[in-house]
Amino acid sequence: MTERVLILGAGYAGSVVANVLAREFRNRIAKEELEIIILDRNDTNINQGGFTFIPFELYTPEDITRPRKKLISPRVKSFYGRNGEITAVDLHNKEVTVKSDKKYSYDYLVIAMGCRADIDAVPGLADDLNTFYTSIEDAFKVRDLVKNINGGRIVVSVASMPVPCPGAPVKFTFMLESYLRNFRKNRDDVQLTLAWPMEPIGPPEFNKLVTGQLKEKNIEVIRTFQLASVDAAKKELTSKNGDTINYDLLITVPPHKAPQVLIDSGLADDKGWLSADKATLQYRGSAGNFDDVYVLGDLGPADILKTGIGAHYQAIAVSQNLINDIRGNRIKTPYEGETGCPIVTELESPSTQGRGYIATWKYGVPPEPFTTTKMGWFLYRMYYHIHWDISVKGLF
Ligand SMILES: Cc1cc2nc3c(=O)[nH]c(=O)nc-3n(C[C@H](O)[C@H](O)[C@H](O)COP(=O)(O)OP(=O)(O)OC[C@H]3O[C@@H](n4cnc5c(N)ncnc54)[C@H](O)[C@@H]3O)c2cc1C
Repeated sequence: MTERVLILGAGYAGSVVANVLAREFRNRIAKEELEIIILDRNDTNINQGGFTFIPFELYTPEDITRPRKKLISPRVKSFYGRNGEITAVDLHNKEVTVKSDKKYSYDYLVIAMGCRADIDAVPGLADDLNTFYTSIEDAFKVRDLVKNINGGRIVVSVASMPVPCPGAPVKFTFMLESYLRNFRKNRDDVQLTLAWPMEPIGPPEFNKLVTGQLKEKNIEVIRTFQLASVDAAKKELTSKNGDTINYDLLITVPPHKAPQVLIDSGLADDKGWLSADKATLQYRGSAGNFDDVYVLGDLGPADILKTGIGAHYQAIAVSQNLINDIRGNRIKTPYEGETGCPIVTELESPSTQGRGYIATWKYGVPPEPFTTTKMGWFLYRMYYHIHWDISVKGLF
């Protein structure tokens, strides 16, 4: 009988798992003892990390997208569009339904469908929504806005946590400051404010670096500002404890939550995320405990940082656990919380060297003291090209 691994979502994490399993089990797949199926609603993979750079024209849509068929091993059976768009997930009956009404059963299930912006969670936000967080098109709209900034108060507001890559809004703010100072040459005409929903910005050493840089660059930071509503007519933000901020231009990172289909399937917790064992990543949520169901990437527990770096390490751990499950050796390979947050504090310009750093940490091991460097900038810029041929293919 053919065993089946069913992977929901062919984004970063799902693609890595599919590729690692396809390499490991090429003989079993050829003998039809094992089948790997991956589903996604569309056939194009987007590296969302590139959204932060589009407003400054540092990557093009071609740089940050690839057809999934170039990324996923041909040993994997891929279904996109109506046969890949998931409409219901039933863990008790081990059955997944897609838009065409086709149903897929499985022996092992990997849920890696990412998360989505929840604009309606903030009253009034839709009336003045400028964000680089949601799509290439929206990032280009932000590009058009920043190109035309001539003065006034710009507020970058992170509505609430968790969001994917919580460092990205900080990175964006530093890049915007550098862009106005070095390219537009109008930095002195602009008041730049970062409204942040928590007290610290990342772990202690990350917070220290960022806090120093915000001060040095004269960027105002308003902490613990959890966005409650936006009044587009008055150009005013109100926080959950009633504080207000006025703006001329608002750039927002909206609240996020797991895909609605997973919430509707009864798999999410009351905060809107999928619970899992933080080490094995096996599903431990409102639908029960399921050892044959793995949860990884952005839709996972609220207290696991949502980053591409984290999704990658989770995918490597889950792949190894699936290899162990299928071989029946009962070994568990834990995810140890490996994650990271790339930061940029300066753009490369005729008068400045780009500066960046990729801070990494794991459960119980916070980042070491660090500073941004020219080499960090180059490595981070290069990573966007390496991503497709090394990381997504699961070769590292
Ligand atoms: C602006 C921004 C900047 C970022 N910068 C960085 C960075 O610098 N470094 C970093 O490490 N991380 C960064 N990230 C985070 C990183 O992109 C995510 O953590 C990573 O993509 C998560 O991978 P995933 O596989 O969980 O989800 P995704 O890569 O989002 O994949 C989810 C897949 O599921 C599919 N899907 C969803 N719903 C359905 C459905 N109903 N049916 C079928 N398919 C479905 C989607 O189409 C998608 O292909 C950034 C994110 C953003 C938004």
